[in-house]
Amino acid sequence: MHSDPFELNYSKVKAYLDCPYLYKYIYLDRNYPPHTPFSSLGISVHRALDRYHSGGGGLDELMLCYDENWHHHGFESPQQTLEFYRQGRRILENYRRAEQAGSRAEIIFTEKEFEFEFERWRVRGTIDRVDRLSPAGGCEIIDYKMGFETKTREELEKDLQLSIYALALKKTFNMDVRIISWLLLLKGEKVSIPYDPSREAAILSVLRDTGEKILALDLSRKGKCSSCPIRKLCAVSEAK
Ligand code: SF4
Repeated sequence: MHSDPFELNYSKVKAYLDCPYLYKYIYLDRNYPPHTPFSSLGISVHRALDRYHSGGGGLDELMLCYDENWHHHGFESPQQTLEFYRQGRRILENYRRAEQAGSRAEIIFTEKEFEFEFERWRVRGTIDRVDRLSPAGGCEIIDYKMGFETKTREELEKDLQLSIYALALKKTFNMDVRIISWLLLLKGEKVSIPYDPSREAAILSVLRDTGEKILALDLSRKGKCSSCPIRKLCAVSEAK
C-alpha cells in the first residue's frame, strides 16, 4: 500500500486518531488488519449495492451482484460463512423492499470518488451515495452502515467522515449539501440531520492537525488496546 504523507483520507485520519500505532501498522509498515466476519459482510454488501445501482434491475440482479462480490475472508468455519452470507441476503432483500415501498430517490452518484486540495494536503475519498432532494433542492449524502451497533443523531452531528464528504462535494462539484445520513442496513433505518456548514473550519482544522502529526510521526500516545483490531499483532499492545 503506497502512502503519500500529504494525502489524507478518512480511513487514514481515523486510524491515526484511534491510535498512531494503528496508523503506522497500516500505512507505514503496510499491513492489513485481519478481516472479521463483520468486515467481510460489510465489504460484500457495499460492493453489491454499488454494482446494483450502477447496473440497475430488480431483486435478482441485486442478489447476483451480492454473489459475485462476496468477500469470503475472516470466517472461522463454513457454518459461520453461511450464517453471515444469509444475513447479507436478508439485509439486501430488506433494502430492495424499502426501495420499492418508498418514493424513489434520484440517485446522482454511487461510490463517487473525490479529491480536493487545501493548504499542502490532498484529501481523497469515495462517497457511498448522493441523492438529489426534490423539490427542496440540494442533495443528501448517504453513507451505508451495516448497523450492528445503534447509531444516533447526536453521533452523526459529530461525525468526521460525512463532514469531509460534504466539504468534498462543495469544493469539488460545487454541490449544495442539505442533509447527511447514515442508512443502517440491518434495520432498514435512516439516521439523518441537516448539514451544518458552520463546522467546516473545525473539520479542516482536524485534517490539518492530524496531517501535521502524521508527517512528524508523532507516536506519543496509544489508543484503546482492549478494543483494537490489531491488539494481538501490535508490537506495543497492552492487550495481547
Ligand atoms: S494494540 Fe494498542 S498500541 Fe497497538 S495499535 Fe492497537 S491501540 Fe495502538
